[in-house]
Amino acid sequence: MRAVDLIRRKRDSGELTREEIEELIAAYTRGDVPDYQMSAWLMAVVLRGMSRPEIAALTEAMLHSGRVLDFSDLPGRKVDKHSTGGVGDKTSLVIAPIVAAGGLKVPMISGRGLGHSGGTLDKLESIPGFNVNLSLSDFRRVLETCGCALIGQTAEIAPADKKIYALRDVTGTVESSALICASIMSKKLAEGIDALVLDVKTGSGAFMKKLEDAANLAELLVDTGKRMGKKVVALLTDMNQPLGRKAGNAMEVAESIEVLSGGGPADLRDLCLELAAWMFFLGERVKSVEEGKKLSTDLIVSGHAREKFREIVGLQGGDVAVIDDPRQLARARHTLDVTSLADGFIAATQCEQLGTACVVLGGGREKKEDAIDPAVGIEFHKRIGDAVTRGEPLFTLHYNAATRLDEARRLAETAYKIEPEKPKTIPQLIYRVIGA
Ligand code: URA
Repeated sequence: MRAVDLIRRKRDSGELTREEIEELIAAYTRGDVPDYQMSAWLMAVVLRGMSRPEIAALTEAMLHSGRVLDFSDLPGRKVDKHSTGGVGDKTSLVIAPIVAAGGLKVPMISGRGLGHSGGTLDKLESIPGFNVNLSLSDFRRVLETCGCALIGQTAEIAPADKKIYALRDVTGTVESSALICASIMSKKLAEGIDALVLDVKTGSGAFMKKLEDAANLAELLVDTGKRMGKKVVALLTDMNQPLGRKAGNAMEVAESIEVLSGGGPADLRDLCLELAAWMFFLGERVKSVEEGKKLSTDLIVSGHAREKFREIVGLQGGDVAVIDDPRQLARARHTLDVTSLADGFIAATQCEQLGTACVVLGGGREKKEDAIDPAVGIEFHKRIGDAVTRGEPLFTLHYNAATRLDEARRLAETAYKIEPEKPKTIPQLIYRVIGA
């Protein structure tokens, strides 16, 4: 196999065989294909797409680039949840402890920030000491001890996704159903789970902006999981505006702790309860999604979910003091309130720009080797449909370095569309469930 021939064939809309895809992925994982060739191939895939057999071959090649875990000897159903990514999307930090507190096992392999969207691993690493790079034996030990463990792709589990994911983040090659499917499902199928709940985002802050494209992606993900013998559902949910009120790694951990403590913004709480309920339902812990919601609510009210989060953080080396006092998380040195220039109503947000503004502040990467600043982020004061008066704060930038503050401000400020009339429709939180 010559990588250049596979790049050229995909560039010219040709189809690759299963063997060619397997060889390409294996060679890249070994380091025999360089980043620049892989980047070119990924871009060709973004532009030309892949057939269903190619997507299946890519997903399986990436899955088998590492080990497929087996936790069947551990008691209890193993379930997980994964989101296709958005702005302020921190539900994993809330849901994983809820579901583990409810008696199911959650062996969660997550990703870092991707493009304009934040990533669970970067958020968790904003907790001082939290180790997302557990060895396989430690992953199992933590899972066995407290019912949940949260790690990233490793050299042993989904190593192809570990490398390709980091490359896609900085090469404009995220927005492809084929690549998203292979990336998500190669990690999730390696986890040894029985069931998976997918949160497929749609709207201006999602990778799939149109509902129809998101629905197609959801079907692809669900079919792929079911073909591999898993119970899978996908919820199509809104990403036309940030989820919750905060975006930025440490700020999102703080907001997740608020939800686990019984507070937090309503949209974030409602989505967490719904996703956790589906996990309980697929994991056969409850008989209906409604019952799952009640159980999730009870686990928050009783404090068990928050206590579970503390246990997970402690077992993964994190400083549990931040759970009692989230002000101990990294905080930016400066804040800047940005106010509305007009009276009216928030009609829409260009949500991707809000995510990019966070990246520009230092909350994400623009090159693979960039370090993240855990403290920076944006606090959003207005949601679509809210009234706003001239001079009232729209959002607050939390920053450390002023070097790119103007750029972040411009991106975020121009993301808001303010109209004189209240918008007729407000985006609903959940559009539909696929695969139920
Ligand atoms: N989440 C992933 O793990 N991969 C993607 O490509 C998108 C979201």
